[in-house]
Amino acid sequence: MSRFWSTKVHDLTPYVPGEQPQDQVYIKLNTNESPYGPSPRAIAAMRAACDDNLRLYPDPQCLKLKQSIAHFHNLSSDQVFVGNGSDEVLAFTFQGFFKQDKPLLYPDISYSFYPVYCELYDIETRTQPLNERLEIDLDQYPNDNGGIIFPNPNAPTGQGVELEAIERLVQRNPGSVVVVDEAYIDFGGDSAAVLIPKYDNLLVIQTLSKSRALAGIRVGFALGDKALIEGLERIKNSFNSYPLDRPALAGATASIEDREHFETNRRKVIATREWCTEALTRLGFKVIPSKANFVFACHPQHDAGRLYQALKQAGILVRYFNKPRISDHLRITIGTDSEMQRLIEQLTTLIEAQ
Ligand SMILES: *Cc1c(COP(=O)(O)O)cnc(C)c1O
Repeated sequence: MSRFWSTKVHDLTPYVPGEQPQDQVYIKLNTNESPYGPSPRAIAAMRAACDDNLRLYPDPQCLKLKQSIAHFHNLSSDQVFVGNGSDEVLAFTFQGFFKQDKPLLYPDISYSFYPVYCELYDIETRTQPLNERLEIDLDQYPNDNGGIIFPNPNAPTGQGVELEAIERLVQRNPGSVVVVDEAYIDFGGDSAAVLIPKYDNLLVIQTLSKSRALAGIRVGFALGDKALIEGLERIKNSFNSYPLDRPALAGATASIEDREHFETNRRKVIATREWCTEALTRLGFKVIPSKANFVFACHPQHDAGRLYQALKQAGILVRYFNKPRISDHLRITIGTDSEMQRLIEQLTTLIEAQ
């Protein structure tokens, strides 16, 4: 606390990211990073970008990267916005579209950065409860709103939303921007990006942090009607003209263009997730069917907080949310097959010890 802080800064409740402890080497299954490296072509492109040209500012339009992303999604480059991680793209989205007379709608159990942005930008909200199976039910969302945002698949549940339900929501809310946060879409969900040519009120946000294993370079993007994209560009150009550095632009472009590496690794994660879900179920866990690179599981006989602590002591980090309705769950990122085998062995020991 300091007397120099504004009231606003004083009142903020900042987002708390998952632990990145430095005290020992953990099997890290707590922040949904990829267990596999990024595309070797992306690494080569970033190395090549580290030359004398670093004295020059990067391209403020990020045109090459936008073109690669547009090509990947069958859109045009004026339907693409890129930012410093999808968190930055989300921040601009909240600032640009969600400050309205009516409240913003989002799921009560969801990405915990949403309420942080709402507080920062003074956005009124009305959270929408997940159903008893912890699913998002978009058909229950009221039409009277100042915007809608939800992750698909949802975090931290991993549950996926049907494309038809998203389209119904977008159709019956022509006066609101509907944002689908697709951080985990590449692990089995259906992207709403295919709907963009049909609707001017839909924005889809993706990231290179998860399925492309590039959390370390901070690149995210939005896809939408060009007027929405222009709105985001206006904010970006009023804030920071160069949010993406030269190595990040080169690495991200090469990553988008390396389809084979992308396909191989996302399929590996999906395959590991499927056997892990079965193994956890055999141990007595209830696992929500996941379309993401993590699973959300609870054990009727075991306290999730205690399991989290015991795993940490054994050198395995998972995520535990001490929050209403989900404090009996663990969120476990899908690692390599051998990391997940270690997890299952450790959980077997903990569960059989009782
Ligand atoms: C990880 C995550 C993000 C942020 O990703 P970055 O691009 O690394 O900023 C956004 N939304 C959800 C739901 C996420 O889980």
